[in-house]
Amino acid sequence: MKILNKNFNRILVWLSVLLLWIIVSSCLFPAGQLYAQELGPVPEEQQVPTEPAPVPEAQPAVTEPAPIVIVLDPGHGGEGEEGALYESFVEKDMNLILANAMKAELEKYEGVTVYMTRTGDENISLAQRSEFAKSVNADMMFCLHFNTSGSHTLFGTECWISAFGEEYSKGRSFAEIEMDMLEDLGLYSRGIKTRLGDGGLDYYGIIRTASELDLTCVLIEHCHIDHQNDRSFCEGREQWEAFGRLDATAVAKYFHLKSDILGVDYSDYPITTVPVPDYVVRPDTTPPDVCIIDFISQDMTNGVVAIQLSAADYDSGMLYYAYSYDGGETFSDLQPWNDKSQDTITFTMQVPPHILPQIMVKAYNGYDLYTESNLISLPSMDYKTEEELAAEQAQKEAEEESAALEDSPPDEEIPPTETSARKYVEVRRTTVAEKTEPMSVSYFLTVCLVCALLVLGMALSMILLLRYRKKRRRKRKRR
Ligand SMILES: [Zn+2]
Repeated sequence: MKILNKNFNRILVWLSVLLLWIIVSSCLFPAGQLYAQELGPVPEEQQVPTEPAPVPEAQPAVTEPAPIVIVLDPGHGGEGEEGALYESFVEKDMNLILANAMKAELEKYEGVTVYMTRTGDENISLAQRSEFAKSVNADMMFCLHFNTSGSHTLFGTECWISAFGEEYSKGRSFAEIEMDMLEDLGLYSRGIKTRLGDGGLDYYGIIRTASELDLTCVLIEHCHIDHQNDRSFCEGREQWEAFGRLDATAVAKYFHLKSDILGVDYSDYPITTVPVPDYVVRPDTTPPDVCIIDFISQDMTNGVVAIQLSAADYDSGMLYYAYSYDGGETFSDLQPWNDKSQDTITFTMQVPPHILPQIMVKAYNGYDLYTESNLISLPSMDYKTEEELAAEQAQKEAEEESAALEDSPPDEEIPPTETSARKYVEVRRTTVAEKTEPMSVSYFLTVCLVCALLVLGMALSMILLLRYRKKRRRKRKRR
């Protein structure tokens, strides 16, 4: 009974706690909310009609931004318009292959329309190309080229842009992206440049005719097909197409395009804003302002000379240098100015022996104009070249070999030691006999054989003669 009573009390306590909880929770949560949270959405037919929510006013339809229009101009084309020709390379064909690859890649992006000034081997004037780009409302035109230099000495990649206003500003802004990418590929940057013709307008016809129509055109000279430094970048079709894809990516970055196909989004790609110049951005027409060399060291044992070169060009910066050890009679190949932020560089050069070195340098600016340095005369270095050392070594070895041959007797005439003296004499005797009379032994044997046969023949004939005589004597006796 006591236990029953205790259980009854417990049940009462629990019931009162439950009741208290229901009261508290119904006060804290409005009716239905608790259910809604625990049981999920209330079926539509069970929902209590509420005041209709204010419907937002009909928004004007969001217009899709007009697509970016890009015009690609594969340089040259048609009869007598091959562009650069070098070995088996024909520039107009290379440019077209590059442009086709660039178009295909660009069309993987959203919101871009691409046109080409030519799709085959056609003669089209530069003005016609620009007019076509204008007729399709191009946002920008890209003129695509490969380069060669008259003396096959230049190497690297470069972009040419208009020297005027907005065309300069936009062109430079794009070209900085393009050049960064080409440099990342491993090409040497020859810079982003303007060039003016005699009339004071843009020198390159495609840029000039585009500018006249307020159209921005960037001329890309991808690399020099006639220089070994660039050659590995433009050996064949695959690489020309890779340039096309690189150019397309630069365009996508500049115009903030995105591509689901490629899985890239350049919407937030940072772009250098180039202020619109209110003057003509003139090309550099003067050579470097300074070019001085200083002697650092000279290694008399191997001909290596270290030189410090200080050169500066406040217009277009430094681009290359070339050195001479014969007072400027001949110069080395162009060397890249690797750190363009530095006016002073050091380098080493190999000077041949047995001459009086007359060191001088030519330093080139961004427009390939050069200034010659002072001359430094050094004492002759009479070290031996690798060829001389190799020839000397070969001669030494030959001499040693012949001396060894003279000193040592032939193999069969090894000088006798005390223990083998008799043996040596015997061996020598037999070898001498073998060497001097190999024919007389067989001759002697033949003679012996002939003599034996003769003796045998004579003996036989004597026997026969004696028997014949005996027979005759017997016959005579019988008679
Ligand atoms: Zn060209």
